[in-house]
Amino acid sequence: MVTVDEGRVAAIEPTSTPPPDALGSDRSIITPGLVDLQLNGAFGHDFSDPSADLAAVAGALPSTGVTAFLPTVISSPPERYAACLANLRRPVLRDAARVLGVHLEGPFLAPEHAGTHEPSALRPPDVQEALGWLQHGDVRLVTLAPELPGALDCIRALDERGVLVAAGHSGATWAQAQRAMEAGLRMGTHLFNGMRQMHHRDPGLAGWLLAAPVPVSLICDGAHVALETVRWVAAAKGPDQLIIVTDGLAALGMPPGRYRLAGQGIVSDGTVARRPDGTLSGSALPMDHVLGGLVASGIDPSLAVRAATRDPARVLGQASDLGSIAVGRRADLVLLDDSWRVRATLIEGQVAFAAGSGTPGRSPIKDEARVPDRTVLSPT
Ligand code: ZN
Repeated sequence: MVTVDEGRVAAIEPTSTPPPDALGSDRSIITPGLVDLQLNGAFGHDFSDPSADLAAVAGALPSTGVTAFLPTVISSPPERYAACLANLRRPVLRDAARVLGVHLEGPFLAPEHAGTHEPSALRPPDVQEALGWLQHGDVRLVTLAPELPGALDCIRALDERGVLVAAGHSGATWAQAQRAMEAGLRMGTHLFNGMRQMHHRDPGLAGWLLAAPVPVSLICDGAHVALETVRWVAAAKGPDQLIIVTDGLAALGMPPGRYRLAGQGIVSDGTVARRPDGTLSGSALPMDHVLGGLVASGIDPSLAVRAATRDPARVLGQASDLGSIAVGRRADLVLLDDSWRVRATLIEGQVAFAAGSGTPGRSPIKDEARVPDRTVLSPT
């Protein structure tokens, strides 16, 4: 049983027979609130569009178990960044997922690994442009291709200002990746997708990321990488260095159909979305579905939960407050059923989403929430 007081976890006690609770849910699992470091959009909104409704997305994300996230902007023309970043400044919202800052994926990416990024929006790294972004918004994570000319200066400049830099959409060799780490590179973005692949005589960026002491994110929707691959990546990386991201698009949480990504048309089949030429653009699978798929495929549930909670919080330097259930920490909690679907999500002890209630609503257990459980899966 987890007891919540004043928005913080007040006590955690083991129970064999959960008493009835105010939520009335037939819950079986409690996890910390899920943290998504790569969300390009959701619920019909695309964060690469300066008119995206951030509040609407943040308000709907608790229905997927996500309680904190980085809205992500993909490669765009230079003049677009000020407006996008201004639109994504952290709002103060109640009963909504917390905005931890912005992830800029691009525009300093390798054209030959552009994936869904518009080639005309890619350009070589430029320190002045990168520092300019910091004037317009709260940039927390930048994904770039570390082998490009000027990339190392950019990595150093961003790292010195507390911005996390990740390698992605890149053709870097092992040696180039190693030099980038020495300059301040601290993460790999969506391992295997949009990067130089591994060969036993030329391990490239993918091989380096598997061996290096930096965390990697993976898109675990079963389409971007096989779920069997997730299992051996987890084994190769060891504890703490695997981060599950949705790479969600405007299509996430929406029916299959046509959506937009940075001005381009994409088509979602309900799991992934693609450009008209078939290029994968990102995912439509919500985080609770991603976790359910991983567990159904045989992945240790504790590992999956860590990779969606504590490990992303840790790479952002926020593990002391987010990503685990511990006395004194924020009471961001997710109650999941046996199929890993969200029954309820609490943010700072308040019910931000309850399944079947129609709309997110207030809990009658406001000041002293007592959340019984059968299984608490919390990284410590
Ligand atoms: Zn990408």
